[in-house]
Amino acid sequence: MTSVHELIRDAAARERAGGSGAGRPQRAPHARPIALRATGASSCDSSLSRDPWAIDRDPGYGPGASTGDAVPGDAPRQGPLPARYTEASDDELHDWIVAAKAELGQRVRILGHFYQRDEVVRYADFVGDSFMLAQAAKASPDAEAFVFCGVHFMAETADILSGPDQAVILPNLAAGCSMADMATIDQVEDCWRELTAVLGDAADGAQPVIPVTYMNSSAAIKAFCGRNGGIVCTSSNARTVLEWAFARGSRVVFFPDQHLGRNTAHEMGIPEERMPLWRPHLALGGNTVEQLRDARVILWNGFCSVHKRFSVAQIERARAEHPDVRVIVHPECPADVVRAADGAGSTEYIRAQIAAAAPGEVIAVGTEINLVNRLQQQRPDLTVFCLDPVVCPCSTMYRIHPAYLAWTLESLVAGEMPNRIVVDASVAGDSRVALERMLAAKP
Ligand code: SF4
Repeated sequence: MTSVHELIRDAAARERAGGSGAGRPQRAPHARPIALRATGASSCDSSLSRDPWAIDRDPGYGPGASTGDAVPGDAPRQGPLPARYTEASDDELHDWIVAAKAELGQRVRILGHFYQRDEVVRYADFVGDSFMLAQAAKASPDAEAFVFCGVHFMAETADILSGPDQAVILPNLAAGCSMADMATIDQVEDCWRELTAVLGDAADGAQPVIPVTYMNSSAAIKAFCGRNGGIVCTSSNARTVLEWAFARGSRVVFFPDQHLGRNTAHEMGIPEERMPLWRPHLALGGNTVEQLRDARVILWNGFCSVHKRFSVAQIERARAEHPDVRVIVHPECPADVVRAADGAGSTEYIRAQIAAAAPGEVIAVGTEINLVNRLQQQRPDLTVFCLDPVVCPCSTMYRIHPAYLAWTLESLVAGEMPNRIVVDASVAGDSRVALERMLAAKP
């Protein structure tokens, strides 16, 4: 069998020769329905179970929480899978995945995000959030390739942090992130030009504005922050990172999640009127010069469509139905939801809260449904439920069906390298600068 290192070399040689290779669309029928896991709740889109392959035919994000968001024109597209996979039964896919995984052994590791569906996570060697998985890749120098069952920006981060001879593969190229897609590098550079024109630039002395990007952004935006004295943050360390930024400049421009930026700045005592929203299609982001000069945190107009669904009305209903309920939410939720909850924090915070809960506790959670269901399974002595009664998964994460995993692993066994995610060396270098600043930032 061809080693993965040989595959990487072959793929690079084909690219240099102008060949196609990874991710080449293949025509095949779309026949096999996906059964949405029964939860007792209704689904936000019946297409989730009726015609999952529509995700690969249609230009949008597909059914799920991101349905209404606009996909950038240059977003990667995935060709339909061969009929062998779309027409296979669940048992066949399982057997093929297990057999291919056994054949590939330790040379290939499967990384599964917390929000990934259980039918895929069951095969993962590591399960975690995007940064934990990138760290797992970095800590696995013996692996030749990582099959990343998450979304595009996560695979980019894993490629940046893993070794140059290690390949990162995204089983479905169209598994992007609608939030990350809300800030393109051209928009961010336009914003920066306008801000520096109004606020001055670093040459004037102390940097007037420090760019900070959430991990959920493209490698190009992380690199932009690295080049311009900025930094990356996660939902666990956003406050520490903002403090790092305020030690170096008087303002922050925060990409792309307005809610994480607003919730963190609010926790630090920054008033709402000093957090103008930057709308990328308007001059000065829709603000006056005075608003920008008075700003402490300029918030990019991006959001997570999954976490935006949570509302104060849902919290009130949970409290009416369960008087002892404890409500915990992710800081990607809108500010009024975070303020109405009993606690807010990263996925790790939510997991730790549930792990430490006293038996019998009732906990309502405002985060992605696959994670909430898994947390309930892990603590059957608790009542853990999602604040949103309608099942609405992250539609982009949902694109990684077991059929894609089977196709990816069998392709590797057959000596092919599908869907490799490669971050350009200069972009990776500047991104690494911003990531290393984050790792060095201390509370
Ligand atoms: S849950 Fe939200 S932020 Fe996470 S991948 Fe999905 S759309 Fe992106």
